[in-house]
Amino acid sequence: MKLDCCNRCKFYSRSPHLVCTLHPAGVEGDICPDFELDLTIPDDEAVAWYGEQWQPEGASYYGDDLVLEPVQQMTLEQRLDLLDSHPLFTGRCSNCEMPLRQTEPPRVHWDCEYCGWVDDSV
Ligand SMILES: [Zn+2]
Repeated sequence: MKLDCCNRCKFYSRSPHLVCTLHPAGVEGDICPDFELDLTIPDDEAVAWYGEQWQPEGASYYGDDLVLEPVQQMTLEQRLDLLDSHPLFTGRCSNCEMPLRQTEPPRVHWDCEYCGWVDDSV
C-alpha cells in the first residue's frame, strides 16, 4: 500500500509498479519506518517541470549531474577535430606539421613560424 506521505519521500519510486525503492510493495500500517522527507522535491509538478524544461543554455545533463560546458559554441565533432589537429594537443602545426613547442609561459596562440599558419581557434 502506498501511503499519503510517499509522494514526499526521497525513496518514493514514482512508478506505477513500485511504491518505493525500500518497500516495493509498500508497508504494513499507516506509518513507514523509513520515511524521509525529500526537501529537494517540493511537489510532483515541480519535479516534472524541472526535469523537462530547466536546462540553462550551454549546459547539459550527464546522468543526474548538470554539467556546464566550457566551450559552448562548438559541437562535439568540432572539439574532437581540435583535439586531433590543434598544436596545443598534437605539438605540431596543423598545416605543415612542423613541431611547435609549448613556451614558457604557455602560449595562447599557436601561430606557425615555419609556414605562417595562424591559430584562429582561440
Ligand atoms: Zn606550419
